Amino acid sequence: MSAYQHRWVDGALINLPHSKAVCVGRNYAQHAKELNNPIPETPLLFLKPSTAFAPLQPSFAIPRDSACHHELEIAVLIGASLRQADSAAIQRAVIGMSVGLDLTLRDAQQQLKEKGHPWEMAKAFDGALPLAPFVKVEQCGDWTRLQCQLDVNGVVRQHGDAADMLTPIIPLIEYITRYFTLLPGDVVMTGTPAGVAALQLGDKLSLRFANMTFDTVVD
Ligand code: ZN
Repeated sequence: MSAYQHRWVDGALINLPHSKAVCVGRNYAQHAKELNNPIPETPLLFLKPSTAFAPLQPSFAIPRDSACHHELEIAVLIGASLRQADSAAIQRAVIGMSVGLDLTLRDAQQQLKEKGHPWEMAKAFDGALPLAPFVKVEQCGDWTRLQCQLDVNGVVRQHGDAADMLTPIIPLIEYITRYFTLLPGDVVMTGTPAGVAALQLGDKLSLRFANMTFDTVVD
């Protein structure tokens, strides 16, 4: 897992660290509904540490001891420091986008939530953020029309459309940078659409984004 480094889709290294990912919960109404969660009034933020980053390909590991759900999400790669940032600064700072999995130990998360405890154990463990290589932002098109899809063993499980985000990418990053300075190499995970479910060892996954398909296996 420490082998993770940011890369472009052509395999070239991106010479930036990965100090943290800032993630948002319940950013698609249909996903909040499937877990019987209320829709939050403001973005529900949480962090994943550098040790959570893992390469998506050729395979990635999941914990063996608890139901581990896939959450397919559009990932945004930040290339310049952002603090109290406005829309123009954000548009200048984003250098790439891709897809990744916000892996979640769902039973543990549920138990922690019921007790009112922080949910890091369920979300921030080693390898909890497998990420595909990044597509240069110029090749991603309109940020409000991005699409992503996850197939598991040949069947579509999740399909996301940025138009359905409760807080779209730019206002989301504006909100994040009121509280967390984003550093070059940080990643913003933009929330999962409906269709989350437990992964099984040996599952074959295809993640689709920006005309790219990233195949991988759960091991
Ligand atoms: Zn998520």
